Amino acid sequence: WPGHHKNHLAHEELKTILLETPSSSKATEWSRYYTSGPHLAGKNLSQAEWTRDRWNEWGINSNVVAYETYINYPVDHRLALLEKAKSGAADAGAWKVAFEASLEEDVLEEDPTSQLEDSVPTFHGYSASGNVTGSFVYVNYGTYWDFEDLVKANVSLEGKIAVARYGGIFRGLKVKRAQELGMIGVVIFTDPGDDGETTEANGYDTYPNGPARNPSSVQRGSVQFLSVAPGDPTTPGYPSKPGVPRAPVDKAIPSIPSLPISYLEALPILKALNGIGPRAQDFGQYWTRNTGLAYKGVEYNIGPSPDDVVLNLYNEQDYAITPIWNVIGIINGTIPDEVIVVGNHRDAWIAGGAGDPNSGSAVLNEAIRSFGKALERGWKPLRTIVFASWDGEEYGLVGSTEWVEEYLPWLTAANVAYINVDVGVRGPIFSASAAPLLHKLIHDVTASVQSPNQTIKGQTVRDLWDGRISTMGSGSDFTAFQDFAGIPSLDIGFNEETGNSPIYHYHSNYDSFHWMSEFGDPGFIYHKTMAQVLGLITAKLADVPLLSLNATNYADALKEYIKKVEAKLTASQANPSTEEDIFAFRARAIGTEVKGNPNHFKNSLGRLYQSVDAFKSSAVELDAKSERLAKEVNEHIPWWKWISKLKLLHEIRSTNTKYKKIERAFLYQHGLDSRPWFKHVVFAPGVWTGYAGAVFPGLDESIDKEDYVNATKWVYIIDDCIKTATKTIE
Ligand code: GLU
Ligand code: CA
Ligand code: ZN
Ligand code: ZN
Repeated sequence: WPGHHKNHLAHEELKTILLETPSSSKATEWSRYYTSGPHLAGKNLSQAEWTRDRWNEWGINSNVVAYETYINYPVDHRLALLEKAKSGAADAGAWKVAFEASLEEDVLEEDPTSQLEDSVPTFHGYSASGNVTGSFVYVNYGTYWDFEDLVKANVSLEGKIAVARYGGIFRGLKVKRAQELGMIGVVIFTDPGDDGETTEANGYDTYPNGPARNPSSVQRGSVQFLSVAPGDPTTPGYPSKPGVPRAPVDKAIPSIPSLPISYLEALPILKALNGIGPRAQDFGQYWTRNTGLAYKGVEYNIGPSPDDVVLNLYNEQDYAITPIWNVIGIINGTIPDEVIVVGNHRDAWIAGGAGDPNSGSAVLNEAIRSFGKALERGWKPLRTIVFASWDGEEYGLVGSTEWVEEYLPWLTAANVAYINVDVGVRGPIFSASAAPLLHKLIHDVTASVQSPNQTIKGQTVRDLWDGRISTMGSGSDFTAFQDFAGIPSLDIGFNEETGNSPIYHYHSNYDSFHWMSEFGDPGFIYHKTMAQVLGLITAKLADVPLLSLNATNYADALKEYIKKVEAKLTASQANPSTEEDIFAFRARAIGTEVKGNPNHFKNSLGRLYQSVDAFKSSAVELDAKSERLAKEVNEHIPWWKWISKLKLLHEIRSTNTKYKKIERAFLYQHGLDSRPWFKHVVFAPGVWTGYAGAVFPGLDESIDKEDYVNATKWVYIIDDCIKTATKTIE
C-alpha cells in the first residue's frame, strides 16, 4: 500500500534526492574515466568491471553479463589515387601514386586524446575485407534515389568504387545499395557543407582553435544493414550464447569493402573528377544542397573517373567470435511483474567518446548514484528498475539486442518501458524521440527540471524545448525493445543547435574530453541536468502507483500516421517540407509495376480510421479512469474501510496491466515484409533510411513500390492490431 509502506519515502522526497544529488563535478570525473582510452566493443572489460563496481558501491546489485558475438577489428588499410603516366611521358603507361591517404586524424597539441598511441584506426564496423582498384563515381549521399538518379542518367556503376558523402541516411545502407548495383567498394567522406554555418569556409576557426570541424576528422561507424536486423548478424532473433548455431551473414553485412575518410583527404579524390562526366547540379537540388567544398576547388562532378585515374581501396578486417560485456544492475521493487529498464551503451569507436556514448554513461552513473542515496534512506521502489550499460552498440546495437532476445519472455510479461540515453550531451538543445505512450511523461518531467541556461529566472528544460518528439527510428539501443519486443521506449539527449554552434565530431578522435570541456558542455552543467531528467523519468515510471503512460496520445498519433499514409499517396518528391522529408523521399525504393488499385487501397484506409476511433474512445476512458484512481490513492481511507482499499488496489493493478499490454498489441509475429526480425507494425527504421523511422512500415514500403495489393494486406494486419489493443484496454 503506497504511502503506508514502512520506511517508504514519499515521492516528493525521492524527487528532491534525484534533483539534488547529481553533480557536474562527478559527471566530469566519470567522463574523464570513460574517455581515458580505447573501449571498443569486446575490448573494454576493465570498464565493464569498473562500472559494475561503482554501481555496487552505490548500493545497486550489479553484474557483468557476457555474450559471444561476431565482430571485426581493423588490421590494415590503404586508400590511394593512382594515375597512369600519359603517353609521351618518359614513363608512359606506368601507374603512379597521385595521392596516398594517411587515413589518420591529426595529433593535436591541445587535445591529449588525439595523442594516445593506441588510438583506434579509421574503419567501418562490419565492413568486408577486400583489395579493390577501379575508377570511381561521386554518388552524393548514396541514398536509394541518388543511385536511382545515376542509373537513369546511364552513369556506369558496375565495377566502380562509390565516393559518397555522409549524411541523411544510415551509412550501412549506402554500402548496401552500392553493392546491389555491382559496385566494388565505397569511400565515405564528411562534407563540411552539412555542418551548418559553423564551417571553415565561413571563416570559423577549426577545432581545437575554434568551433568548426577539424578538417582531418573522420567518422567511423558501422556499415551493417541496420534496417534488415540489428544485433549479432550470426544470431538473428536469438541470443549469442556459447555454442549456439550461427547463421550466414551475407544478408546482414556488406560483402564489398568500405572506408571512411576526412574532408581533407576527400579533396584530391573529388578534384580528380573535376570536369569529368555530369555535374551534381545537373541532377538538381538534392545534389547541390550543402556542397561545402567548392571553396577548396571541388566542382562536384560525378565521373566516372577515366580508366587511367583509379582508386585503390584496401581494407583488412579480422573477424572472430568475441565476448562482449553488458553490465546489469537491479533495484528490486515490490510489484513482481512491472519492470522499468534504463540503458546507455558504454562502447565507443574511439579512445574518447565524451559525447557518444560516455556523456550518457556519466549521466546514467549520476542517476544511479542518486537512486543509491534514496536506497540509503530506506526507499524501495514499487517497480523493479533494471540499469544497463550496453556493450557493442556501435557495431549494431549488439549488447542490447542479444539481451532482449535472451530475456524476451520475461520482458514481454513484465517490462513497462525502456529509457535510453546514448549521446546524453553534445550541446544545449533538448531532444527526444519516444513512443506516443510516453510523450506526456517527457513533457511533465522536463517541466520540473531547471534549465542550465535561463534567460528568465526559473526557466525549465520544458520551457526551452520546442516540445517536438520524433518517432522511434533506429540507431541506438531502444530498437530491440521497441521494434522486436513491443516495449514503449524513449531516447533523450541534449543536441547541438543547428546553425552556428560548435560542431560535434561524431565518431571521431575529437569527440574527446577536451572537446566536451571546451565546446560541448563547459562545466558539465548539461550532464547534471540530463541526470536529473533521467532520474525523474525513471522515478515517475517506477514509483508512482498509476503507470505514467498515456493511451489517448497513442490513439491520436495513430490517426496522424494514417493521415500521413494518405498524404503520401498524393505527395511528390518536388516539395518536401522538412529535412527529414527530404531523406524520406530520397530513400524510397520503387517498384517495377503498379499492383492493385491505389483508390481501392485509399478507401480501405477508412477501416483503419474506424478502428482508431474505437481505440480512442477506450483510450480516453482508460486515461480518465487512471486519473480518477490516482486521486483516490491520495485520499485518506480510514482503516476500517479496508474492503474499499482492496478494491482500489485491485483496480489500480488491472488498469496498470492494461497500459502495460498496449504496445505489445502492435507486434505482428511474422514481422515486416522481407525483414521478419522487425515485428512492430507502427514503428520501424525506414528500409532505406535506417535512422529515420517509418510509421506503418508495411504500408509505407508497399506504397513506395506501388504495390497496393500488399498495402491492402497490411491494412488488415494493422486493423487487427488496433482491435487487439482496443480489446486489451476495454
Ligand atoms: N549508433 C550506431 C551508429 O549510428 C548504431 C549502429 C547500428 O545500429 O548498426 O552508427
Ligand atoms: Ca542474436
Ligand atoms: Zn552512441
Ligand atoms: Zn555511435
